Amino acid sequence: MSLRAHSITAIPTRLNGNNFRSRIEARWSIFFNEIGIEFEYEPCPYKLEGGVWYLPDFWIPYLQSFIEIKGGKPTRQEIWKAKQLAIVTRRPVYIFWGRFGVPSHQYVRNATDSAYIYRPYIQRGKIKVVSDNAHWWCECSYCHTISIQFEGVTNEICDCFKSHYLYTAEGFSTTRLVMAYLEASRTKFK
Ligand SMILES: [Zn+2]
Repeated sequence: MSLRAHSITAIPTRLNGNNFRSRIEARWSIFFNEIGIEFEYEPCPYKLEGGVWYLPDFWIPYLQSFIEIKGGKPTRQEIWKAKQLAIVTRRPVYIFWGRFGVPSHQYVRNATDSAYIYRPYIQRGKIKVVSDNAHWWCECSYCHTISIQFEGVTNEICDCFKSHYLYTAEGFSTTRLVMAYLEASRTKFK
């Protein structure tokens, strides 16, 4: 097997006035448009520990969070940068990596894709970062609030779960989200 077969080649993609560094970033931008979430692509660079400059992929004003897109499983250095960004900006940083599409427990177990989160918090006056995986886009199927939650469970994002007890809290595969993944997946780029 050639070396090339192991590396993920990023194809710069121009779409709606943005110059995305890869097609998977462009697909995520379509997904955000489809679900009606505003984003800023490569908002501004931040200086990390040791004087390293870092330009995040997406800023999502609605969630006050950054989103990084990676083709493959994040390296230790990429994870270090995401944690640093969370510390410097005091905002959550997500890394969506691997296969693009509706998330599933199966894929997370097989480690073909996931979404990591690095969430800053203050402990005894010091800033720390807690990390987790399997954070998926989700939607309350009652009031249609959108969020990113562990395994797409929506019971914390609005009051619907408490007020409508027949309602399921699993919100990562609602019609709106599935259609958005589908639309972004099937978009052909020039
Ligand atoms: Zn709701």
